[in-house]
Amino acid sequence: MAGRTVSSEALYRALKEAVLRMNVELPADVTSAIRSAFERETGRGRTALKYILENIDIASRSRLPLCQDTGMIVAFVEVGRGVSFEGEGLSSTIDRAIADAYREGNFRKSVVADPLNGRANTGMNLPAVVYWDFTESDTLRVSCMAKGFGSENCGKVFMLNPTAGREAVIASIVEAARAAGGNPCPPIVVGVGIGGTMDRAAVLSKRALLRDLDDVNPDPYYAALEADALSALNALGIGAGGLGGEVTCLAVKTAVAGTHLAGLPVAVTINCWADRKCRVEL
Ligand code: SF4
Repeated sequence: MAGRTVSSEALYRALKEAVLRMNVELPADVTSAIRSAFERETGRGRTALKYILENIDIASRSRLPLCQDTGMIVAFVEVGRGVSFEGEGLSSTIDRAIADAYREGNFRKSVVADPLNGRANTGMNLPAVVYWDFTESDTLRVSCMAKGFGSENCGKVFMLNPTAGREAVIASIVEAARAAGGNPCPPIVVGVGIGGTMDRAAVLSKRALLRDLDDVNPDPYYAALEADALSALNALGIGAGGLGGEVTCLAVKTAVAGTHLAGLPVAVTINCWADRKCRVEL
């Protein structure tokens, strides 16, 4: 494998730019899913979808945040074996890019240092939640989402009976969305982590949210499960903004991992219509 050198300055500039853009511009797959939801919605949620589309347009033109909650950054860093990183450390470069993007964009800093004692705002939108992977490639990839907490607070983990089966998995996804109602700012996007341990399933559910909304799971079993879960969620009738309608959910995405023979962990992460994600690859 040919070795490559990536400088901390190159990563800093690319990531800061991507985080700035992520908060004012939705990815094309998300905007197009919302537009298509608006076109087919006949219920009261159609009004909410109309305003969401207007919001997306205004944010993009005026470079103002899509939502006042500019989220907590969740980042997946994939470090290729063929990459050597020079300059500042990788972790501190990522932190600096995030902090500077939130400062330059005048985005709300939403992160507190201690979750219980004092809850003082760090003023930098740090710490971010960062997961590290090491790959056999010669690229460095950082994939981020800006996770709003109206939707994050609606996430759930289910430790199912190992023989519960696919219908129980779908029922768990539906249970999480039904309990959430209009709170996560629907239309929602749902990431589902299946397998691993309780914590691994939760991380998988976040990783699943990074998939394009219009991709099709290459595994036909999980492609069918995603489609069936999506239909079940849209049958709830919650609708955009919780106003009622046919479109509650834009997409269900799964990610799976091996698990213990005595368990079937299922984690459900719910994201709002402001499904902000970005990727930098060097
Ligand atoms: S859940 Fe999403 S759309 Fe709702 S307030 Fe939070 S970031 Fe904004």
